[in-house]
Amino acid sequence: MIWSRREFLNTSARAAVGFLGLGQIVSTAGCFIRPDKFPPARSNRRVLADLHVHAMINDWNRRTPLGIRYPAVARFAEKFVNKTGMEWADCHAAGIDLICATHFNVFDEWLSMPTDPNPEAPANTFRMMDQLEEELAGPARAFATLARNGKDLEGLLNVSKTDPDFRTAVVHTVEGGHALGGSIEPLEQLASRGVAMIDITHFFSKDIASSANSYPYFPDGNSRWPNLGLSGFGREVISEMERLGIIVDITHATSTAVAQILKMATRPLAVSHGTSRTLSEHPYALFDEHIEQIAAGGGIIGVIIDPYLLSNYATAHSAEKRGSLRDVVRVIRYLVKLCNGHKHIGIGSDFAGYIVAPTDMNRLSQIDLLRELLEDEFGEVGVVEDILANNVINFLMKNWKSGISDDE
Ligand SMILES: [Zn+2]
Repeated sequence: MIWSRREFLNTSARAAVGFLGLGQIVSTAGCFIRPDKFPPARSNRRVLADLHVHAMINDWNRRTPLGIRYPAVARFAEKFVNKTGMEWADCHAAGIDLICATHFNVFDEWLSMPTDPNPEAPANTFRMMDQLEEELAGPARAFATLARNGKDLEGLLNVSKTDPDFRTAVVHTVEGGHALGGSIEPLEQLASRGVAMIDITHFFSKDIASSANSYPYFPDGNSRWPNLGLSGFGREVISEMERLGIIVDITHATSTAVAQILKMATRPLAVSHGTSRTLSEHPYALFDEHIEQIAAGGGIIGVIIDPYLLSNYATAHSAEKRGSLRDVVRVIRYLVKLCNGHKHIGIGSDFAGYIVAPTDMNRLSQIDLLRELLEDEFGEVGVVEDILANNVINFLMKNWKSGISDDE
């Protein structure tokens, strides 16, 4: 897929105008960081296993050529545009069990478009992984630890939260198949370094699978062909991921692509940060029949904590003004009903990922606010703990096979 420079510039200009027009940048009210509400959780209950968190995105953006050249721009984006976030110490204090830290480089996806695929994308992905590992071995050491395989994860999750050795478990995941740089070869190294899951498509179709438009101000020029579905290369990517034991994440794929992936997949699929098309009229959201098939195949659907994508707000701006955790509860309730049970439903917050924040929660460590609402809704503590944590943990323990353990 080759973009002409003119197409690229046109899309960029449209995105920039839409972004500003919808108030993503100009509206800064309410986005200042609120102090965390909850004191350290010192009970052994499960709190949260989150399928999709952009744990390192601000640090990474600071280290990109643009961030180095214009540090004020990076700081501005971090403070005023990225309205949700997480801090390792707070997540640990809140007793969060597991964070799937997703690696995403906007430069490899968006700004490399005229030269797609970017041959440097795999190297950049490994640098993002290095950066997370340095963070966990350094400043975040007392709070969180990387799990490189299922065995590591099991060990970390078995530590009592009253034990001083308790750490939030962290797993490498990747958002956007553009990270492969147009080749299946990097998959082997990603697998051996412990990447548990790759979201094969993202904002723009990259000749893997067609991408659904997520935000009106971020249109994909290639969604001129939304029914392209899976490419031949996309099929190779999925087969190789299955062989290596990396979980296939289908968030952001068009419904055509989702149908084709469901047909060819031989392993359970993940939707790391999804929503329901019945409750939210976005191309990004999943149709009922696809949700049912993903659940029936042993897959998992992580519900995104972004009111704009969960409901039918007229604009992202009105979702920002009015959206709340009620939107999250409503979608979870619907999915539980649709799937005849709650075992395939989890959370994939997408926090720190430049999403629209609910008015009542903007730090991941405030997850007990959602827990309270879910307990009111379902009336059963066990069901709520499954949705917040156990379902994702069980799914990963069963289906994540990549990563080399020390005794192999
Ligand atoms: Zn995403």
